[in-house]
Amino acid sequence: MKTVAVKIVILGSQGVGKTSLVTRYETKSFQKNTSSTIGASFSNVDAIIDDVKVKMQVWDTAGQERFRSMAPMYYRGANAALLVFDLTKYDTFTDVKAWAHELTHRVEGELMLVVVGNKVDLAEQRVVQAATARNYAASIGAPFFETSALDNTGVQEMFQEVAARMVQQAETNTNSSLRVYAAEGKDRRGSILQLSEDSGERAKGGGCC
Ligand code: GDP
Ligand code: MG
Repeated sequence: MKTVAVKIVILGSQGVGKTSLVTRYETKSFQKNTSSTIGASFSNVDAIIDDVKVKMQVWDTAGQERFRSMAPMYYRGANAALLVFDLTKYDTFTDVKAWAHELTHRVEGELMLVVVGNKVDLAEQRVVQAATARNYAASIGAPFFETSALDNTGVQEMFQEVAARMVQQAETNTNSSLRVYAAEGKDRRGSILQLSEDSGERAKGGGCC
């Protein structure tokens, strides 16, 4: 099976549910108390799109949201950025706009942006309407997803859509930084991308991406 390896960064204010979304997709469960360990962390999650395996290395800011100067470390070399806000907190939506602005100006190369409104289960507390978020997302060329890590709404769909677009990008753009492997795990240029098997505190060697 052909494999595509991608780096995804998940950005947004503290408390919007970034870690919960990754955990939900990774383990199909919701952990009520997610730890906010300090330090870069990533999880490797896979998706299958037709006959292609998409290995997604998802970088989470793990409690460092306030240290904006740390951000480039996370998004450097990313192929996709999930910009997450809390549908019940308007200022977190404003923060997403700031993230999109920064990424657009500072990331070279092709970067897929995805706008994610999380906590859709809290319908009564909702303050950001779907049309507002969708119009904004469209204005930056990003898809918009409403999710709930708590009750598992939209989470699989969101990651599947990102994976599908990454496959599309790998197939249509030969200059893309996506690594496309043949079955043996070597890419077309003959080098191997280092991905560790499990979640880790740091990328080994920092040689990837
Ligand atoms: P992070 O700081 O962005 O990583 O946010 P966390 O994943 O740590 O979540 C922050 C808080 O929001 C925790 O108390 C979670 O239990 C809660 N939370 C996360 N996702 C959801 C959701 O979809 N719905 C609800 N109701 N609570 C959520
Ligand atoms: Mg977190």
